[in-house]
This record gives sequence, C-alpha cells and structure tokens, in this order.
Amino acid sequence: MEVSLNAIITIFFFFLITSSVQSSTEIITRFQQFLQINTAHPNPKYYEAADFIISQAKSLNLGFETLEFVKGKPVVLLKWTGKNQNLPSILLNSHTDVVPAEHSKWINPPFDANVDELGDIYARGSQDMKCVGLQYLEAIRRLKTSGFQPIRTVYLSFVPDEEIGGRTGAKKLTESEIFSKMNVGIVLDEGLASPNETYRIFYAERSAWSLVIKATGSPGHGAKLYDNSAMENLLKSIESVRRFRASQFDMVKAGLKAEGEVISVNMAFLQSGTPSPTGFVMNLQPSEAEAGFDIRLPPFADPASLEKRISEEWAPSTRNMTFELRQYKPKTPTDDKSGKAHISPTDSSYAWWKLLEKAVKKANGKLGKPEVFPASTDAKYFRDQGIPAIGFSPMASTPILLHDHNEFLNQAEYLKGIQMYESIIKEFTSYVGSDSDKASREEL
Ligand SMILES: [Zn+2]
Repeated sequence: MEVSLNAIITIFFFFLITSSVQSSTEIITRFQQFLQINTAHPNPKYYEAADFIISQAKSLNLGFETLEFVKGKPVVLLKWTGKNQNLPSILLNSHTDVVPAEHSKWINPPFDANVDELGDIYARGSQDMKCVGLQYLEAIRRLKTSGFQPIRTVYLSFVPDEEIGGRTGAKKLTESEIFSKMNVGIVLDEGLASPNETYRIFYAERSAWSLVIKATGSPGHGAKLYDNSAMENLLKSIESVRRFRASQFDMVKAGLKAEGEVISVNMAFLQSGTPSPTGFVMNLQPSEAEAGFDIRLPPFADPASLEKRISEEWAPSTRNMTFELRQYKPKTPTDDKSGKAHISPTDSSYAWWKLLEKAVKKANGKLGKPEVFPASTDAKYFRDQGIPAIGFSPMASTPILLHDHNEFLNQAEYLKGIQMYESIIKEFTSYVGSDSDKASREEL
C-alpha cells in the first residue's frame, strides 16, 4: 500500500497537535484536582493535599518527605538533587491552605474548579497560591522530560497555615535543623496577579501590627457637656490616626509612593456603649471606649518613631488612655549577617536578580518594577534567616482576586506561568557562581 508523503506529514502533525492538546488537558486536570481539595480554614484537608503532592512527586521521581513540626500540620518537602550538592540550593515555597469562601456569592462553586467558556478556572486558591505550587511541579516535569539535569539542588516546600500567620508552618520549617542542612541560597514565594501585561515582583514586605487603644473616663449624663469622657478621649485619638492615615494615603494618590511603601492604618473595630434591651442606653456617656487598628509597616520605616507616635499622640496616658500593640518584629538589619534580610536585593549587580530577569525575558515575560508586598507572606520567615526571598506569582492580565469571591485564573495564563518557572529553574540551577559554600552564600 502506498502512503503519500503528504498523508504522513498530516498524520505526524495531527499526533503532534493532539499530544500537546492532551498534555495541556492533563496539566489543567491536575491543577483542578489540587484545587478540588478543600484546604480552607478552619478545617483544611491537609493530609489530602499532602497525599496529592506526594503522588505528583512519585510520578516525577522526586525525593519526598512529610515533616510534622506541629501535629496535624504537615509540611511536604520535595527534592530534586543537583549534580553539585555543595552549592546552595534553590527553594520553591508555596502554601497549601486557602482562605474560606462564601459559597453563595460565587458564580461557580469554589471547590469545583469549573472552567468556563473563556478558559477561566474558578476556585479558591486558583491565584493564592495552589497555582504556583503546581506550576513549580509542572515546570520540573517539563525539564525532566527534556532531559535537563540541575547543577544546584531544588527543594519544594508545601507549607500549611500561611493564611493564619505561618507560625505553625513556614516558621517552624525555617527554624528546623533540616532547613539549615538544606543550605538554601534563594527562595521563591508568592506574589500577586497583575491586571496588565507586566508581572509583579516583590523583594520585601510590610510587617503587620495590630493596635488596640482603650480610653477611660468618668461616666456622665447624656445631656452634660464635660471634658475627658472616654468617648471624647477616644475620638481625639481617632482624629489623630485619621490625619496620619491621610498623610500616607496622599502620597500613594499623588503617585509619589507605591502601596507597599507607606504605613497603612485602618480601623478594624470600634466598641463602646452601655447595652439595653433595645440597643444602647442613650442618656449615658460610657466610661470605656475601645478602637482596634490594623497597621502595616514597610521594612524601611522606623518602628521606634511609630511606637512613639502611638504612646504620645494616639494613646497618651495624659488622656487616660492605654494601648495594646502586637507587632511582627523582623530581625533588624544589625541582627542579620547580610544586613539585607528583609529587603532581598534586586539591583542588577545581584546575581539571582539578574538570572530571574534573564529567565523571564527568555520565556517572553515582562517584569515590573520590584515592589514591597503590601500584606504579609511566609517570605518573611526566610528573610529572617538571612536568605533572600522573591515574591512572584506569574499571573499577568489577571484581576487581583485573592481572598475575593469568584477567584479565578485563566488556563492559558496558568500554562504560560509554567514556562516562566521552567525558564527560572533552568537559570537558577545552572548558575555555578562560587564553588565555596560560605563564599557563595555571602556573595549571593
Ligand atoms: Zn497566599
């Protein structure tokens, strides 16, 4: 039987197309499977997520280990051993937990991972950050298929509890002996989606403080005008906080500073009054009043001057006020060997940064100006150990929907992100730098 060359070519391309279509279908299916595991607080199915990650690790022939620093909070650690184990390793971190979803406000159920006609995958965690965790693995799958062998070792950590502060997840990992043996030179962690074509990238983050100020004063008749009531004292403070807030926000509005570069202060609660069966007693001025604030401090702001402002202006004892302050205190630059723990350097003289820029460019992506992450992530725990951490979630042309209703990620964007990581892992693990461990850690 004679088969024409044309027919052979047609058949060949048919297979090529169907196999690539099939593999992207498989990639998306794996992503959907991970999204369908309900890891929302307060009862995240961590063991199901861990089993899924381990099944992926097995299919990729990666080393795997489940660490349980806190009972019920598994950290899954995967390893792709590099050819030179003396060089500092690369750590790809992601968290497996997600924030809860109000099911009734979603157009698609948040744990079904349905794909609509535009290719948008709807699920809690599709942006924050199950996408990243699986993109790392898919990138490794592609690299392995192509026969690539890393020089540096790659670790992947899938940590619990980021959404509730990370103290029982990433923090425990970074403080462990296992971690120090991993000799990590650079960490990649989460970033944010970008509504335009440029990827957002983060080199530091603001630290979270929570402040509760309490005013006390003599109670009195609702009709009486007198000074130093609890309400009057608290209102003076609130006015002062609002002036400060406006001064910070004005700089953002004027385009002088980015969101992550100013101190944000937002009132979280306001509490006072004497309850009555129908609401509140109206002819009584209460003797106590309280307000709570969420404060975010950029790494280069001076914590001492804000503490002074709080004790002198926002809650002065001269006005019968007290306050409670809970703050995340990163190690100060003087505590840290590199002096740069909380600001992972991004200038072009810095090797990892140059490699990252090059890798994203090679994969046809564009990076924006490095930013300070406006909220808090696990990256701070790595920076606490003096290890540079870069926040990056490759989602361009995507609305920022983390923690929002109808969180989604387009499948084409997800697939493009895999190519970014493929390129980044290739560049990072091929970089030899200095052979000496110590020198390279300090140099990098
Ligand atoms: Zn996150």
